[in-house]
Amino acid sequence: MIHDARTFAADSRLRCDVCVVGSGAGGMAAARVLAEAGLAVVVLEPGAFLPATAMTQREELMLPQLYWEAGGRTSVDRATHLHQGKGVGGSPSDKQQPRSSPRNL
Ligand SMILES: Cc1cc2nc3c(=O)[nH]c(=O)nc-3n(C[C@H](O)[C@H](O)[C@H](O)COP(=O)(O)OP(=O)(O)OC[C@H]3O[C@@H](n4cnc5c(N)ncnc54)[C@H](O)[C@@H]3O)c2cc1C
Repeated sequence: MIHDARTFAADSRLRCDVCVVGSGAGGMAAARVLAEAGLAVVVLEPGAFLPATAMTQREELMLPQLYWEAGGRTSVDRATHLHQGKGVGGSPSDKQQPRSSPRNL
């Protein structure tokens, strides 16, 4: 189940055995293994859940939603450009949207 913080009541509580920070490739793989082992898992993700139907194929609209700093993140010395994904699914999410339904997460 996905809870959206914008509509989550301020006094709500989620109880879990493990809290995974970040829903990217590493976080979601860990969450799945832990959940399959019987633990109650909560995954925190600052980005949005974007289902396939939200993908417009318009870069100026999608890049700010799919990547930190709209895809313009760099190393501190600006020598390296970093495409770091944000949103449910993390960096792989823009490439795997058909699998990113709440049922499949
Ligand atoms: C364009 C692109 C193409 C790629 N192609 C391939 C490929 O073909 N094959 C391959 O093996 N790899 C590929 N990669 C690399 C792969 O996506 C990454 O190696 C992998 O996603 C890293 O996993 P991760 O969990 O460390 O980080 P991510 O998947 O980036 O997930 C990190 C998550 O943490 C969240 N987060 C960040 N800060 C916070 C915070 N403070 N609190 C909570 N959550 C936070 C982010 O929003 C994000 O959802 C590609 C990456 C990109 C960007």
